[in-house]
Amino acid sequence: RAKQAHRAAPVVFDNSMREAAQHRMKLENELQRALELNQFEVHYQPVWNLASEQLVGFEALVRWRHPERGLLLPGEFIELMEETHQILPLDRWVLNQACQQFAQWQRKYPRLARVGVSVNLSSEWFNRADSLDVVMQSLKQSGLSARSLLIEITERSLLHQPDQAASVLRQLRRLGIKLMMDDFGTGYSSLSYLHRLPLDVVKVDRSFISRLHEDQRAEAVISAILNLASALGMKVNAEGIDNPKQVAMLKQMGCQYGQGYQLGRPLPAERVSDFLAGKSHTR
Ligand code: C2E
Ligand code: MG
Ligand code: MG
Ligand code: MG
Repeated sequence: RAKQAHRAAPVVFDNSMREAAQHRMKLENELQRALELNQFEVHYQPVWNLASEQLVGFEALVRWRHPERGLLLPGEFIELMEETHQILPLDRWVLNQACQQFAQWQRKYPRLARVGVSVNLSSEWFNRADSLDVVMQSLKQSGLSARSLLIEITERSLLHQPDQAASVLRQLRRLGIKLMMDDFGTGYSSLSYLHRLPLDVVKVDRSFISRLHEDQRAEAVISAILNLASALGMKVNAEGIDNPKQVAMLKQMGCQYGQGYQLGRPLPAERVSDFLAGKSHTR
């Protein structure tokens, strides 16, 4: 009997493996056409100055309007896009879209002159010679000023060719674009590595924010990041703020910026337009 059970196991395993592979292949095929079929959209989450409660920016977040499955979040497709080398055209599309949209909002609402838009770029951007040209072209075509654009990168994306990545970052910054280290605290780079990068903002990962009131160590980590950032002349943005206690605490700790469901969910462009026109709230 033991032998039989032993023999049966691989069959079950094979079936689920086959299903997973089929699912992946279907997704891969659909993703290949999603861009040309115009199925992606950009949602925007507001970012606030915690002390003054003023709007300082929006983060552009991609979504996939799947014909059968509805609105899909990046967790369902970004990794596959990276693995199949389709992420560059997608990021480029999001960058263009965000620049165009934001330039349009700024023309309509002069109070947005000092508000910025941030875009998440994948690691592949930093292994290419033409990244700078692509970004410059987006700015030029949209008319958006470089100082209104923020680029979000992760520690992971700098892992493989740190020197080359740092050089691309320096060039972007020379154009006047601001740079933000996203999901800080979850990656592999050491704290000492931070001072070698030309960053404007460090975004503390959501996992530390969500543990703020349960775990004193999370508070200690945020404090340390705030101190380090301040010593390096960088600002700190907290992500994933989802209750009023976290807002109060981060404000008291001196964290400059924040975003999260408590302060505003990511919204489609039309809803942001309504919000900017004073027709609705972001929550
Ligand atoms: P991220 O850049 O760290 O973005 C923050 C994520 O946290 C977003 O998820 C956002 O919707 C979510 N979030 C915001 N506030 C809260 C909150 O209060 N509670 C919780 N639980 N979550 C909150 P989303 O939109 O699903 O994006 C996931 C990740 O996908 C992003 O993480 C980013 O790494 C990646 N991503 C999104 N858009 C792009 C893109 O255009 N290009 C690339 N390469 N990656 C992207
Ligand atoms: Mg981000
Ligand atoms: Mg993040
Ligand atoms: Mg995150």
